[in-house]
Amino acid sequence: MTTSTVHAATPVVTGVGASIPRRYRAAVVHEFHTPLTVDQVTAVELAAGQARVRLEACGLCHTDIHAAHGDWPVKPSPPFVPGHEGVGIVVEVASGVTEVAVGDRVAMPWLGHACGSCDYCVSGRETLCLDQKNTGYSFDGGFGEYAVAYARYVVAVPDGIDPFDAAPLSCAGVTTYKAVKVAGTRSSDLVAVFGIGGLGHLAVQYAAIAGGRVIAVDIHDDKLALARELGAEFTINAAKEDPVEAIQRLGGADQAIALAVSPRAFEQAYGSLRRGGTLVFVALPADNDVTLPIFETVINGLTVIGSIVGTRTDLREVFELHGAGRTTVIRETRALSDVNEAIADVEAGRVTARVVFNVAGTPS
Ligand SMILES: [Zn+2]
Ligand SMILES: [Zn+2]
Repeated sequence: MTTSTVHAATPVVTGVGASIPRRYRAAVVHEFHTPLTVDQVTAVELAAGQARVRLEACGLCHTDIHAAHGDWPVKPSPPFVPGHEGVGIVVEVASGVTEVAVGDRVAMPWLGHACGSCDYCVSGRETLCLDQKNTGYSFDGGFGEYAVAYARYVVAVPDGIDPFDAAPLSCAGVTTYKAVKVAGTRSSDLVAVFGIGGLGHLAVQYAAIAGGRVIAVDIHDDKLALARELGAEFTINAAKEDPVEAIQRLGGADQAIALAVSPRAFEQAYGSLRRGGTLVFVALPADNDVTLPIFETVINGLTVIGSIVGTRTDLREVFELHGAGRTTVIRETRALSDVNEAIADVEAGRVTARVVFNVAGTPS
């Protein structure tokens, strides 16, 4: 990831739209590994190309937790407001903005801005742009009542989609949708999804929509039961049996999607592949090292590939599928003031799928 930093607590700027409060609530990371605090932060004036969003909902992604801990090689710079599953209503646009209008409901995904002109941007691979800015990481994100986004990089949320569903779809949804695309799943392929949580419960559904026969792997029986409800044909509790042996008994996976934040799970996902199979790396464990054998990779003609979030087009497709009733989002709503408790619950595996903050503070 490439980042540059802009901050929540930037000084007062005049000219903020008349109906916009000058100060609003947001959950702020002041220092890595210390609890977030819900502060009053100061609204900043929009720059060219920007839009202000009054947020309704924002999901809690593992990436936000890594951001708050400063886990990754490229770190955000505190103080900052995390959140890249923000969904809300556009309340102000900078002069000249045509991509969105006041009153539109939009999602503010991880890819907050890209250069728009490099080889990656012009070839439909904007998530690889070296000059990108990431929402809730290189500029303030959705853990607040308001946020500023780049109008060209928000994605419209179609009418009829609950913003509390749209929020997890904006990262967990598009990330797993893209991973299934990258995996190349076709009808009758055996697809192993390692890790059933915020991402995995959606991955199961996208793999099934693509025609795959889905194997869900997790260490919690309740998550496996959920996966089965959402379309998994087989479930394996990796705490009770070896998923590699179990999947090889089924013939081996054509594709495995690694969503669990554990290098061991990545190695098991690799071991579960059949000849010619593809392993897609998606999760980003704090422990960055995984050991894979060269000999078996060559002899078995295996593909190992990374997949990072998805493009604006991918997210539009995700919303289209949800609007058509093809996907179910499993989530629980929490108050923004519970942000630290929610993080602790996600880290301890106590959350079935996704936590979505009710950032506006009104009942959902
Ligand atoms: Zn995310
Ligand atoms: Zn670019």
